[in-house]
Amino acid sequence: MSKNVLVLADVRDGELRNVSFECLAAARRVADGGMVTAVVLGSKAAGLAEPLGHHGADKVIVVPGEHLDQYTTDAYFQAYKKVIETVNPDVIFTGHTAVGRDVSPRLAARLQIGLVSDCTDVQLTDGKVVFTRPIYAGKAFVKKVVKEGLIFATLRPNNIPADESDTSRSAEVEELHVEIPADSLRTLVKDVVRKTAEGVDLSEARVIISGGRGVKSEDGFKPLQELANVLGGAVGASRGACDAGYCDYALQIGQTGKVVTPDLYIACGISGAIQHLAGMSNSKVIVAINKDPEANIFTVADYGIVGDLFDVVPLLTEEFKKVLA
Ligand code: FAD
Repeated sequence: MSKNVLVLADVRDGELRNVSFECLAAARRVADGGMVTAVVLGSKAAGLAEPLGHHGADKVIVVPGEHLDQYTTDAYFQAYKKVIETVNPDVIFTGHTAVGRDVSPRLAARLQIGLVSDCTDVQLTDGKVVFTRPIYAGKAFVKKVVKEGLIFATLRPNNIPADESDTSRSAEVEELHVEIPADSLRTLVKDVVRKTAEGVDLSEARVIISGGRGVKSEDGFKPLQELANVLGGAVGASRGACDAGYCDYALQIGQTGKVVTPDLYIACGISGAIQHLAGMSNSKVIVAINKDPEANIFTVADYGIVGDLFDVVPLLTEEFKKVLA
């Protein structure tokens, strides 16, 4: 039976995040001929409708308003609730991002529905939507089916491939005004101060060069940043490196840091503690560079290089420069 699917699009700095397109691909899979609607919030929302149409939305609901330019739980919650009541979907998808993780449990609780969070795959099997999600810090995967009622899920970035942009597709665009009383907003974002430098967003990066305590200092991250620049990737870190003060905690990957699934993860001077593996072991290709041949990181690595990262990383950078020139 066809389903009406609603995608809560994720916007950062006025631009759609790739996970929104991944959610649309998942939505098309499960809609089975039904309607796929995307909702986008904020004063620049109207300008974002076109790419959503190109990536599979049949309809885009635009909720304008400057108070929706920066995420706040209260404002987004009210806007999304109104959209859900208007669209009356069978399925709702959003990214398992900072925004998705914050707003979705609140919406689910208020709508009195369940929430399947952090899904790495979604399939339609015998008319049922089947979700795959990691358990035990990524050591095992479980498949889940919601037996009845509205289905609500957050999808982990970089796991479900987005469909190619089809510029011949376009979506019907509808504007919906949501009254959000100023006194209902308990927080007001006045300024956003970035902790990390400009560059590729770690949680959506296709390539991550990660450093551990083995980088030995803040300067030790420089060769990693150079390699990341050449590969168009982002720099990440273990908690060991963050605790040692070599980098900001915003870079931490792992159980208590970010969970990432890039195409390529290069771990440099990282021992491979279970808490670190929880955040990166689902990466598609893992390369480990470590002086210790017994380091646990080699148990999850597809390619292992036993050596000093300060010798190996610059060599890789030079070789990639030649290949990609
Ligand atoms: P180390 O374990 O000290 O490893 C450094 C590695 O670098 C060694 O293997 C060494 O052989 C290698 N090395 C040294 N010099 C060089 C060189 N020149 N070239 C190549 N290799 C070199 N950790 C996380 O990463 N993320 C988390 O989210 C996280 N959450 C945690 C939550 C809890 C509740 C707890 C208890 C721990 C958590 N940890 C987390 C910490 C985790 O247990 C480890 O302590 C941490 O991951 C170790 O970091 P590391 O691998 O950089 O350092």
